[in-house]
Amino acid sequence: MLEAAPLLTVEGLAKHYQLDGGHTLKAVDGVDLHIGRGETLGLVGESGCGKSTVGKTILRLVEPSRGSVQLDGVEITGLSYAALRQQRRNMQVIFQDPYASLNPKMKAGAIVAEPFINYGLFAPRERTERVADLFARVGLRPDQMDRYPHEFSGGQRQRLGIARALALEPKLVIGDEPVSALDVSVQAQVINLMVRLQEELGLSYLFIAHDLAVVRHISDRIAVMYLGRIVEMAGTEALFETPSHPYTRMLLASVPSADARRGDRRRTVLRGEPPSPLAPPPGCPFHTRCPDAMERCRIELPKPRQMAPGHMAACHLIP
Ligand code: SF4
Repeated sequence: MLEAAPLLTVEGLAKHYQLDGGHTLKAVDGVDLHIGRGETLGLVGESGCGKSTVGKTILRLVEPSRGSVQLDGVEITGLSYAALRQQRRNMQVIFQDPYASLNPKMKAGAIVAEPFINYGLFAPRERTERVADLFARVGLRPDQMDRYPHEFSGGQRQRLGIARALALEPKLVIGDEPVSALDVSVQAQVINLMVRLQEELGLSYLFIAHDLAVVRHISDRIAVMYLGRIVEMAGTEALFETPSHPYTRMLLASVPSADARRGDRRRTVLRGEPPSPLAPPPGCPFHTRCPDAMERCRIELPKPRQMAPGHMAACHLIP
């Protein structure tokens, strides 16, 4: 039987910024990934690794320098503004800071109704009914539609952001650190809500976070980014059970639950800061921090290698 085509296919995606003095900042430098229908891909890495830029270039909130982004068979990168605007109905974003992304002067109901107004959808009465339905879906009460964002808790504001993202019935939702600003107990509630909504609505997620423990609970597969590139990608259990890239192993060592189960990983705790993307090291970009670095690593960029179906990593140690 033929497998269904992925909902999202990204190939060779790059975002380079030309800076004063002839410098080039390679925020994203050749990313390939795909997301199936109803699937969640977690995208993790330290701050500044380019993971948020991947999300923004997929949405074309930032124009990619090169590469292909296909959503449901439609090439997004070459679309006119009008055609892109129509496609944006199919892909929505949830931001990290719900308060910054919600207009403080608008009532909550009007915030969630805004996408309907922007796209000229539905008569006023139906808009109100749909907003009330969205409130109920994300665990808010319809009577809260008349409140302003500052009258909600952080978790409730993120529920509002989710309701607004779902208004146009998208196929793909990109969560850009959607729970990072929330307390741990509230993080779990919001993740559980996203999982339930995915089951109910058949959504696909690109879930961007710096915390592997957070990503684990929602992701079917996980991609690990370092200095603008994906260095390992695997099914969630495979990544946690048999991590292959030294950087992934170091990230896992900083996850408390992984430490408890695998005490030996404490010895490989992540050292130092990542190099500046303005001056990435030659060869393997991770060699300045890698405990396994060899001479070859300082010269030659490792190519992605497949160790098992669906499990790839870019490291010279992998035969
Ligand atoms: S290629 Fe070399 S430096 Fe890079 S992760 Fe592998 S062993 Fe470490």
